[in-house]
Amino acid sequence: MDEFGVVRGQVCPQCGIEDAVPVAVGMPDAELARAADRGLAVIAGCVVVDDRGGLHCRACSHEWGSVDDPTADELILAALLAVGHDDVVQAIGPGWRQVGDDVVGLTWFVSGEPAQVAVGVGAGALVIGPAREDLAVVEDEGRTFSRDDLLCSPEWLAAAADEFARARRRSFRWCPTCRRPHPPEEFAGYRGVCVDCVRRHHGLGR
Ligand SMILES: [Zn+2]
Ligand SMILES: [Zn+2]
Repeated sequence: MDEFGVVRGQVCPQCGIEDAVPVAVGMPDAELARAADRGLAVIAGCVVVDDRGGLHCRACSHEWGSVDDPTADELILAALLAVGHDDVVQAIGPGWRQVGDDVVGLTWFVSGEPAQVAVGVGAGALVIGPAREDLAVVEDEGRTFSRDDLLCSPEWLAAAADEFARARRRSFRWCPTCRRPHPPEEFAGYRGVCVDCVRRHHGLGR
């Protein structure tokens, strides 16, 4: 996971745009200085200013919150299960973004970049599976846990999420053009290059 760059899912409460980077406190090292030069972080310096937030909006310069705050999507996930965000993090970790609503009767979230684990949430239960494009397949391949499992035996969910994440990561392939890992379905069979790069190559943009 990248330490710098736009924090996914964190929407600026002032302007409503999702384009916030972390505010780093302390002596900047070379990596942080480079990130700040590229606009991927903001350096707050060594003096801790109390009212400075942990997130800096690049659109309007508003600062608020912390990079560890739950995102709007993560709050939805916790609310659907009627548990706390901390309970969700303890069982299946942070970084969930909503990808589907009412697919096979569940609301879907994924985590990881590229997405590795998918979670489908229904009434009092959730399915954990590999993050595939087709969410109906995820439900077939995944494992179902109850809300009580999440609260009383979070280690069961953690083990399942970890297992699916590892299997998914093993299936990723390296794109030689953008030099990033992608899931196998994102290779269009075009000289081993990912679909994003093929689109860019043909000038179709994104
Ligand atoms: Zn803003
Ligand atoms: Zn690529």
